[in-house]
Amino acid sequence: MDQQIVIVGAGHAGGSAAAMLRQAGWTGGITLIGDEPIPPYERPPLSKAWLKGEATAESLALRPAAFYPDSGIALRLETTVSAIDRAGKAVMLSGGTRLPYDILILATGARARRLPIPGSDLQGVLELRSAADADALKAALRPGARLAVIGGGYIGLEVAASARALGAEAVIVERESRVLARVACPLLSQFFHDFHVRQGVAIETGVQVEALTGTRGMVSGVRVGDGRVVACDAALVGVGAIANDDLAREAGLACANGIVVDLAARTDDPAIYAIGDCTVRPLPLYGRTGRLESVPNALEQAKQAAHAICGKPAPAPEVPWFWSDQYDLRLQIAGIPFDTAEIVVRGDVSAGKFALFHLTDTGVVQAVEAVNASMEFMGGRRIIARRKALTRARIEDLSVSMQQLAA
Ligand code: FAD
Ligand code: NAP
Repeated sequence: MDQQIVIVGAGHAGGSAAAMLRQAGWTGGITLIGDEPIPPYERPPLSKAWLKGEATAESLALRPAAFYPDSGIALRLETTVSAIDRAGKAVMLSGGTRLPYDILILATGARARRLPIPGSDLQGVLELRSAADADALKAALRPGARLAVIGGGYIGLEVAASARALGAEAVIVERESRVLARVACPLLSQFFHDFHVRQGVAIETGVQVEALTGTRGMVSGVRVGDGRVVACDAALVGVGAIANDDLAREAGLACANGIVVDLAARTDDPAIYAIGDCTVRPLPLYGRTGRLESVPNALEQAKQAAHAICGKPAPAPEVPWFWSDQYDLRLQIAGIPFDTAEIVVRGDVSAGKFALFHLTDTGVVQAVEAVNASMEFMGGRRIIARRKALTRARIEDLSVSMQQLAA
């Protein structure tokens, strides 16, 4: 009988792995299991184009529905995997069915962190992870409605920008002293803060949320540390994502805030791989491990697993990268600013077109944060991949092109 691959999680990583396995020559069975009601889709538009009514269900889909049967991929939707029997090489489905595997790929993603505070279960307290969540949020963003956004991370800022485009009011309440604290340097945080304020978004930083308050079961405010209540018609909680590593942990696989994998996406069980937001992976450029919650990472690890399973050469490690669209700003980040000593600005921050180069004490470029500066972003990726050192003067000199800098 054909060898069987079972993929748990029909999201960006799982859906891509199924397709890449076929591209890499896998001729055995592939079963892709997802607990959502629709085939694999893109989450990035959920906080941007989809929310603003600029995307269709078809444009969200990772691939046309016919792709799966046409490629011999058995797609089982609205199906939850409840346990892994590693000794018996099978997964248990929530209805009690047992599904055997030869190779298992865990692509269970992450879930939105919830706030353990009073009022969290009120109607109108929303989160944003799935297409269904986005529909509920969209319905709340009527012109004039007041949205409280708890958390000034990617979700919070992108949704606030979309809310303004739809004519809704937005107030962001952030615990840290600055927005984008987890993913950006202080200068970039300040730039985005100021830009949002100019678009009419109210931002409160350094504020602890104590409770959500309500009237007749519906949220009407966010109570903060000093006792004030920030009035709202709906509240979006965007306070980070938690890796869905529960299945793996219960099955005894090594986990540390995510399923621990190597550069071939292998877990510590030779028959089990894990990919995407649910993993903790090596970051070879930086000599450490970490979770990368991004589409480029889901694609990279899907390829790593497909190549390892099909006996193809391991793909070269990529420079991690991230992007975010807010208003007419395109933020692109190449690399991660670990162990840096200096930040050099190239371009004009006040004109909204610039890049921040993060250097180590020997001038090696670790990361580039680019706003409406895609040449700097693309050149930055090449420079980081080569571990190249640059001087402040050369980076700042706009008469030196990015091609020259990256050469
Ligand atoms: P997911 O896409 O979350 O897929 C995991 C799937 O597995 C889900 O469908 C889940 O329901 C299912 N599942 C989990 N457990 C089980 C189980 N036991 N049984 C069956 N099914 C299960 N990244 C970017 O790079 N750029 C962006 O601009 C960007 N914007 C984003 C905007 C939003 C609103 C969100 C939520 C995320 C955004 N991201 C963005 C992050 C990006 O979408 C994720 O990194 C990516 O989706 C990760 O893919 P994944 O397959 O690992 O996880
Ligand atoms: P995030 O980027 O981690 O931001 C969450 C923010 O909320 C952090 O600044 C966090 O501060 C703050 N916070 C945590 N607890 C809080 C509290 N009690 N009160 C107020 N603020 C609090 O996560 P996210 O924006 O929720 O995004 C969720 C996931 O979707 C992530 O995986 C993210 O990468 C992904 N996503 C990505 C994009 C993109 O790449 N463009 C867009 C949208 C979503 P602390 O640092 O103090 O915890």
